[in-house]
Amino acid sequence: MSLIVNGTEIPATGTIKFNGVSLEKVIFDGVIVWSKEAIMSRKGFLCGNWKMNKTWDESIALAQEILATGVNTTNPETVLAPATCNLKAVADTVGTNLGVCSQFVSNATNGAYTGQVSAAMLANVGCKYAIINHSETTYFGLTPEAVTGNEQASFYNNFNIIAGQLGQCFQNNITPILCCGENLTIREKWAHKTWVEYQLRMSLASITADQVEKMIIAYEPIWAIGTGKTATPAEAEEMCSHVRTVISEMYGSSAGDQVRIIYGGSMNAKNASELLSQTNIDGGLIGGASLKPADFATIWNAFSK
Ligand code: PEP
Repeated sequence: MSLIVNGTEIPATGTIKFNGVSLEKVIFDGVIVWSKEAIMSRKGFLCGNWKMNKTWDESIALAQEILATGVNTTNPETVLAPATCNLKAVADTVGTNLGVCSQFVSNATNGAYTGQVSAAMLANVGCKYAIINHSETTYFGLTPEAVTGNEQASFYNNFNIIAGQLGQCFQNNITPILCCGENLTIREKWAHKTWVEYQLRMSLASITADQVEKMIIAYEPIWAIGTGKTATPAEAEEMCSHVRTVISEMYGSSAGDQVRIIYGGSMNAKNASELLSQTNIDGGLIGGASLKPADFATIWNAFSK
């Protein structure tokens, strides 16, 4: 989909001249739909979330197969998120060619938190990224039908936990990938924009502009994760653009321009190209397709184009 303003097509990349004048930014309905510096300066980002798949040996083999396709972290910045117990194996396998990401990080520094993993522990095994508030973690044990969307609202503490997780990441030089997104019930009530704005404002309450510019925000509609249902490029772009607007309102337009916003939800080798060409989608959080080296490479190549 391209945006036409007064007969001039707004490109996804590059420069634009309008009536002979070079434009820096195009604002449509209060939303930055195009910004030269932002597009030039935001580096793409891909994360392959392996979820609870692959043993230690299989993780090493998968990382090797992905490397053999030519995928690397030069551009887009590309990271793999294996199970916690396999982080070290993957970190040693990929070296500096790819980043390594945890699927979870604790809000606590250390202590009696059975089953959790601290940011310091992650940093110590070479992990430099962590996913926060992934719906499969936050809503673990609840069926999709049972998730009403009020869990984070009613368990107010969840936002305090997210704040703690973000804080732990920043203290340990780990880049947080903060997930947000609505379930089907919320979307059907047409409340998805309000919900995502609420999630962001609550989750980021203690975060500074400098910090937000360093994070990745993943818009992940819960109804599209692992379901094979993908948001259309227009739906995904609308929400990623909305996230950028909220960040701009909270922290100013510079932070809004800088923060990287990625889409996640059944992105695959077929639909990646169109999703990744949207103005406000800076990359992808990829589950199922990241377990197939050829498909992950196709997504990575779609991005590089
Ligand atoms: C995810 O793991 O965040 C995800 C989007 O998974 P999938 O691509 O399988 O939907």
